[in-house]
Amino acid sequence: MGGPEPKIDLNDDQLLRYSRHILLPEIGIEGQQKLAASHALVIGAGGLGSPVALYLAASGVGRITLCDHDDVDLTNLQRQIAHDTTTIGQPKVESARAALARINPEVQVISVRERVEGARLEALVATADVVIDATDNFATRHAINRACVKHRRPLVSGAGVRFDGQVAVFDLRLDSSPCYHCLFPEEGELEDMRCAVMGVFAPLVGIIGSVQAAEALKLLMGVGETLTGRLLLLDALSMQWRCVRLKRDSTCKVCGSR
Ligand SMILES: [Zn+2]
Repeated sequence: MGGPEPKIDLNDDQLLRYSRHILLPEIGIEGQQKLAASHALVIGAGGLGSPVALYLAASGVGRITLCDHDDVDLTNLQRQIAHDTTTIGQPKVESARAALARINPEVQVISVRERVEGARLEALVATADVVIDATDNFATRHAINRACVKHRRPLVSGAGVRFDGQVAVFDLRLDSSPCYHCLFPEEGELEDMRCAVMGVFAPLVGIIGSVQAAEALKLLMGVGETLTGRLLLLDALSMQWRCVRLKRDSTCKVCGSR
């Protein structure tokens, strides 16, 4: 899996910066080189997107495209850890880009200050090695899923509201993988629970976003077993995790004719 991976030689500083990764036999220099050659598309630079982008940058993913149309405001700072008091009023993608650069200036961060959709979304997905959905509304989630199905890109999906979080991987490079629509048909949605109007326990999005980052890194390196075909549900109030097996829906309108 994973397509062509040009070898990127690591210099002495990089060998030190990533030494605790390189020490892991599952990763090693080879895994770190794969990350350096990778492109991750992170859609959403809020509660989930913050930890996702921070961990991907710290881990040395070579290129990160970060999309968000919004500006930082005071109500974001309780949980959106890529932003801080000094960046209130700035575009979230610029605030986050500066935060990522402070952690790891070697990572190329491309900021896209728009609500990506349509042809623009498709073009971005087509160039990515992994797509991380860190958005907060169903319409965008389904648009991202459709683009990932079409271009067969692995999708790491996360959500968190109140004390409830969920995370799943749809490795759409595999014929057997379900897609987001198999799990959540568009017509089945009763309510669009947006963080904009709901309460959110601050570390919940940190936990879910960190799981998304871990899955994205594993997908990029081809190590371990990902959450493909599994939905992980967290009730942070009782700190109970549940795992639900997912199956592809052969009648799914999005991936059924794949
Ligand atoms: Zn499907």
